[in-house]
Amino acid sequence: MKKEWNFNTRTVHAGEDPCPQTGALRVPIYQSSTFVFDSAEQGGRRFAGEEPGYIYTRLGNPTQTALEEKMANLEGTDSAIALGSGMAAVSSTVMGLLEAGDHIIASKTLYGCTFSLFSELLPKWNIEVSFVEMSDLNNIKAAIKDNTKVIYTETPSNPTMNLVDLAELSDIAGEDIITVVDNTFMSPCLQKPAEFGIDIIIHSATKFIGGHGDTIAGIICGPEDLLNSFRETTVKDFGGIIAPFDTFLLLRGLKTLSVRMERITKNAKKVAEFLSNHPAVDTVYYPGLKDHPQYELGEKQMKGPGGVMAFELKGGIEEGKKLLNSLDLCILAVSLGDVDTLIQHPASMTHYVVPEEDRRSAGITDGLIRLSVGIEDVNDIIDDLEQGLNKIK
Ligand SMILES: *Cc1c(COP(=O)(O)O)cnc(C)c1O
Repeated sequence: MKKEWNFNTRTVHAGEDPCPQTGALRVPIYQSSTFVFDSAEQGGRRFAGEEPGYIYTRLGNPTQTALEEKMANLEGTDSAIALGSGMAAVSSTVMGLLEAGDHIIASKTLYGCTFSLFSELLPKWNIEVSFVEMSDLNNIKAAIKDNTKVIYTETPSNPTMNLVDLAELSDIAGEDIITVVDNTFMSPCLQKPAEFGIDIIIHSATKFIGGHGDTIAGIICGPEDLLNSFRETTVKDFGGIIAPFDTFLLLRGLKTLSVRMERITKNAKKVAEFLSNHPAVDTVYYPGLKDHPQYELGEKQMKGPGGVMAFELKGGIEEGKKLLNSLDLCILAVSLGDVDTLIQHPASMTHYVVPEEDRRSAGITDGLIRLSVGIEDVNDIIDDLEQGLNKIK
């Protein structure tokens, strides 16, 4: 693989070489839990780390190596680790970086399970957490203490698609604090946090990386020394590994990352324009719209606004339900980044059991709808939304 190839070429070729033994073009699914040693001595050398080679699939697998090389190449980091879910990537990272007595600064708006890991589990292990509104970087500066070890954020973040300035975040953190960015909403096709000095990049590969709604997986990208320390601790001992078959699905998904992102972004821009002009819609949160408060920052750090957006209906819970129940094409499901257009109404679905007050403080209003635009014909997506919205206008 020539390093100087452009991104779109590397999504196809990076990390993959034809099999030297059989000539197979595709990376085989090495569906093997364990690997055979030539001799007792070789076994000893492998375990001691004196000789490269595979030992046992929880410690590494050749299919997984291909995916990790591809992802490190695409994110522009030394190294990558593939895991069995986005949450395995998040937890292996933070538990690998932090110990009792340390402090982490995290964005106020985080993926739900990341938020519960940080707010409920980390304090149990005596790790201090401060949640701050990160679109104002002064809040981060003000939260830094002597024991601050990590700053963790997502950009863009749900539900209002607020952005965090990655270059400034990395500046504020300096040499001593490790920065971690969940890049799930963008994929390396649209945003490369390492280019702005971010240390560790996390993906729920379930979303755009896999792209087809058929796999749960996670990726950590970052410097060799930090990632090796995770391999030797949280990855190996918590054991949240990825299966060889799922690894293959991600390798396959990544080949079309650029074409998917191109179509998805083009579709999403048109859908966002349509929604902004519909009388049943109050506000559209999408960084590709010129009236997004951080449009300029988006232009600076993202190659495109991506496929995820949220919008506020003029109506509330009943109108939200009516809209969702009227749709034919858009699929009522959580997750995002699939080839299919997915839609969900948090107040009646994911946050149905959350008390109204807590829902509001998380920015989940009654008429908020989340949409992840797919690769279908955009006219069909818009027609479907239009017939649904017309019923509640
Ligand atoms: C889905 C998601 C996760 C969790 O990933 P899983 O693959 O579901 O474990 C983490 N962060 C973001 C931003 C997500 O969208």
